[in-house]
Amino acid sequence: MESNGIVFILSAPSGTGKTTACRLLKQRLPELKFSVSHTTREARNGETDGIDYHFISQKDFEKKIQRGKFLEWAKIHKQYYGTAFDTVDGHRKNGEDIIIEIDVQGAQFLRDINYKAVFIFMMPPSLKELEERLNKRETESENTIRERLEVGKKEIKQLTLYDYILTNFDVEETVENLISIIRAERCRK
Ligand code: 5GP
Repeated sequence: MESNGIVFILSAPSGTGKTTACRLLKQRLPELKFSVSHTTREARNGETDGIDYHFISQKDFEKKIQRGKFLEWAKIHKQYYGTAFDTVDGHRKNGEDIIIEIDVQGAQFLRDINYKAVFIFMMPPSLKELEERLNKRETESENTIRERLEVGKKEIKQLTLYDYILTNFDVEETVENLISIIRAERCRK
């Protein structure tokens, strides 16, 4: 019997360490697919188009919305972010498991439409640490950091949307926990 792949939704407030955890997770589970989102925000130093995001213009993003190309999309920090429907569905139908990294608005939308997925939330050890990590990044102005911190605080209040909640005290341990969740879900009847 052929079976569909599992879709894992991963949300975390900005600066939680999700990117590092996902990089390690890719090394540990190379068969796992990661959805590359579209966004209208500028690429940060070290980010590559087509790998970290598909960086597109606002006009092109809005065209894709009109054409129904997104499984979900959201406006975050005044920029658009969206997950292409075809990418996720293609992997899923191929029997491949896929991770979608999206914000709480996106997760809420997918819950509202009863989208079949496993919802995982990654918490920072504390908001103070989140602030420190965001400050260390040195890529954004103080206002942007403050905005992201406020969004982070709001996101933490919406934990009930999720099936699993992890606290990222230690990235190695977090990756182990993610692998345990993925393996357990693969065994679910
Ligand atoms: P960043 O700009 O720091 O890469 O991401 C900001 C936020 O956008 C993060 O919470 C990230 O999970 C979220 N995000 C990235 N891609 C998508 C997407 O395709 N859809 C939604 N809803 N959120 C996304």
